[in-house]
Amino acid sequence: MKLGALEAGGTKMVCALGDETGKIFEQISIPTLTPEETVPKMIEYFQKAQVDALGIGCFGPIDPDKNSATYGYITSTPKLAWADYNIVGAFEKALGCPVGFDTDVNGSVLGEATFGQAKGKSNVIYITIGTGVGVGVLIEGKLLHGMLHPEAGHVLIRKREDDAYEGRCPYHKTCLEGLAAGPAVEARWGKKAIELKDDQKVWDLEAYYIAQALCGYILTLSPEMIILGGGVMHQEQLFPLIRKYVKEMLNGYIKTEELNNIDSYIVPASLHDDQGIMGCLELGRRALGEGKG
Ligand code: ADP
Ligand code: ZN
Repeated sequence: MKLGALEAGGTKMVCALGDETGKIFEQISIPTLTPEETVPKMIEYFQKAQVDALGIGCFGPIDPDKNSATYGYITSTPKLAWADYNIVGAFEKALGCPVGFDTDVNGSVLGEATFGQAKGKSNVIYITIGTGVGVGVLIEGKLLHGMLHPEAGHVLIRKREDDAYEGRCPYHKTCLEGLAAGPAVEARWGKKAIELKDDQKVWDLEAYYIAQALCGYILTLSPEMIILGGGVMHQEQLFPLIRKYVKEMLNGYIKTEELNNIDSYIVPASLHDDQGIMGCLELGRRALGEGKG
C-alpha cells in the first residue's frame, strides 16, 4: 500500500510517502505560500507517486465534520490566503483517491497512538508547544471533534504573581498560548527561547503554566498518557518541573497508577518529530479502509 501524508503547517507543508506500518519512504518540504502557488506542487508530488490514499493533518481551524457542507475546508484561519479553502476537495479532485483529514495535532496523537509509545491506549492527548499551542485528543479510541475540534491551547490560565508579562494572544491575552508559546517566552524575556536555556526561572514559570493547563486536561478528559512536543519542549528540563507542579496542583485529589508513575505519564514525543507525518499516514490508511467499506 502506498500512502501519501501531508502535514499542512502555516510556514511549511511536509509531504511524505510511506506505508501502513508507519514507514516513511521519503519526504519533501514546501514553503506555505498561497494555495494557488503551493497546492499544485504538492499535487504533482503525490500524483507522480501514484498514492492509494492521502492523509492530511492540517493547521486550523478546520471543518472536520463529514456531514457539514464545508467539510474538508480550512475555515477562519488568520492566514488569509487559506481562509475558507477546500483543501480536501482540491486533493480529492486532482488525485481521485480517498483523502483523510484532521487537525495537525489530532494527526500527532494518532501517530503516537498507532506507532509510538501510546500504542494500545485509547485515551491520549498530544500537546504541541511551539509558535502556537495545540492539543490533539484521542478519547475512547476516537479523535475528538465535538462541535468543532478542541482548541485547548487557548484555555485560560491564572497568571503567577511574579509574572508582569501581559500575554500575547490576540483573543485572550493570558491563555496558555498567550503565556507559554515560543513567541510569548521570547517577548517576556526579550531573547530567543534557545538562548534562555540556562535561565532556570524561565523554565520554572513555563512549567508552572503548562502544568496548570495539564491539570485542566487531566480533570476533564482523564487521559491515560500526556505527550508534549513542539519546539519549546526541546527544553527537556521542563519535564521534571511540569511533573512536580502537576502533582502539587492536583494535591493528591486523583489517585491512579498513572499519576503514581508520573515519569511515564507526562512524556516527550517518541517518534523523532515524525509523529505528525506518521499520523497522516494512518489518516490515509483509514480513509482507504472507509472507501472500500
Ligand atoms: P511550529 O510551531 O511553527 O510548527 P516549532 O514547534 O518548532 O514550530 O516551534 C517554534 C517555536 O519554538 C519558536 O517560537 C521557538 O522559539 C521555539 N523553539 C524552537 N526550538 C526551541 C528550543 N530548542 N528550545 C526552546 N524553544 C524552542
Ligand atoms: Zn488564546
